[in-house]
Amino acid sequence: MKRLKLAIGIAATAFVLWLLIGVGLWVKVKINNWQKLSEIEDVDANSYRVFSKFIDDIEAQTDWSVEIISGLRSKEKQRELLKENAKNASVDKSRHVKGRAIDINLYKNNWLHRIWLKKFNSRRDWQNSGVVRISTKYNLLWGGSYRNYHDPVHFEIR
Ligand SMILES: [Zn+2]
Repeated sequence: MKRLKLAIGIAATAFVLWLLIGVGLWVKVKINNWQKLSEIEDVDANSYRVFSKFIDDIEAQTDWSVEIISGLRSKEKQRELLKENAKNASVDKSRHVKGRAIDINLYKNNWLHRIWLKKFNSRRDWQNSGVVRISTKYNLLWGGSYRNYHDPVHFEIR
């Protein structure tokens, strides 16, 4: 009986911790997204509206949640990224510098396990998420459709 009580105690504690971590992640992602979107709103109110609706649609129509990993970028930041990887867009070409592109990760809970869709996931995984289909409604250009660069996290206003 003592052992059973101990086991239940450990399981309950683990469950509460798991719940707290989940809520913590949710709050962190919401604050992050709000901050990234408001930076975009400062330079381009139209993109702000489009990306806000795009994200709302994803979360309403699929079982995925969105984390914006990159929104508005300074020219300096874009220059650094170009140095790291020559396939990144030049400062003049990057839509991130103009506030007209976002990079997103997707995540969802599968029982106790959290699944992520990130840059290294395949085109097929991203297409199956339903997010690419939703992006066409807003006429967004998807980085997964680039011929010579795999960038499925990237969505930009044409
Ligand atoms: Zn991007």
